[in-house]
Amino acid sequence: MDKALADLIRISNVTGKDTTLVQGGGGNTSVKTADGKYMYIKASGTALKNMNEEKGWRRLRLNDVLSIIEDKSLAQLDPDIREPEVVNQLLLACDDKVTSGARPSVESHLHAFLDKYVIHLHPLVVAAYVNAKNGRAEIEKVFKNEKFPPIWVPYADPGFMLAKKIGQLVGDYQKQFGRKPAVMILQKHGLFVTAGTAEAALRLVRKVIKLCSSKLKEPKPRKTSPPAAEGDITAAKSAIRKAVLDATSRSLPVSYFPNIKSIDAFMARKDAGKLLATPALNPDELVYANGSAMWLEKCDVKTITRKLTSLVNKGQKPAAAFIVKGLGLFVAAGQKSAPVIAEITACSVLIRMYALKFGGILALTKRQQDFINNWESEAFRKKLASRQS
Ligand SMILES: [Zn+2]
Repeated sequence: MDKALADLIRISNVTGKDTTLVQGGGGNTSVKTADGKYMYIKASGTALKNMNEEKGWRRLRLNDVLSIIEDKSLAQLDPDIREPEVVNQLLLACDDKVTSGARPSVESHLHAFLDKYVIHLHPLVVAAYVNAKNGRAEIEKVFKNEKFPPIWVPYADPGFMLAKKIGQLVGDYQKQFGRKPAVMILQKHGLFVTAGTAEAALRLVRKVIKLCSSKLKEPKPRKTSPPAAEGDITAAKSAIRKAVLDATSRSLPVSYFPNIKSIDAFMARKDAGKLLATPALNPDELVYANGSAMWLEKCDVKTITRKLTSLVNKGQKPAAAFIVKGLGLFVAAGQKSAPVIAEITACSVLIRMYALKFGGILALTKRQQDFINNWESEAFRKKLASRQS
């Protein structure tokens, strides 16, 4: 096996198995080959932890990828036309023996102009800042002793425009510091690190996590509550199932996820409902979990149906996760998607609690949500995730 591919699998598996670093199929990684001609990158739809020699990656011709981002005519196009075109060009840049039709990560073009090893994650402790109103100022404080500080990347629509924006910021950084940035922190999104070796890239991830964690204290459940009664759980499941059917005409199984530390701490708060009234924090929460979880003080069919219908009437997606006071987390989704939604929701409530410390929660705006809902690549990622084992 090519050393670059072996390295890619290693850095993907090491970071991907830690749900505090990345949830569901999120994040991506890449490694450029020694001759500088190719780049191995994570494929869309496979989780980092599941990448292996057979699946979860593509090899691209580096020059072809770079020419996509330099193509000025693409920037002029309407996103509805541009984004599928970019996906198509990325597929054309693939040069490997993969026959599954797996797509290279939609962020391939931005990996192309970074250093040899790139790791992109959605760490919880980074989200505490990138989803907070004062996040940027707090990040600057955290990294104030660094000779080469991270780049802060204001939110941009994912895909081509994000790559464009990062390209510009990296250019400015090079002029100022005489080198490319090693760490990039993306508002309402996550973390990119890049380095010349796999070890240095992994070290950077650990360093950022340590620095960001230094200002955070994990909320603990206020008291140990007795385990929920079996009958209450069954009743809640059936109420949610019936409400989803009534409000959306979809018949979905409902799963229960008990004993999640962050959910237990969250349920004890008086402002839990208020914290969940804020929309999706990042693209993944919107795409995979249909936005924020629904807070339920009372778990009856009528209340849930009314709340779901009101979301749909406002043009939003009906929630897939439900936090029932005193019981915990329920998810209405297929068997493959439910654990991913649970993982994302468990992180989201923690991020929401953390963000209060830094000026309050900063979520996606209506326009940002609309862009993602209409984004073809996200529909594709979601379809893959629900099929994946
Ligand atoms: Zn991401």
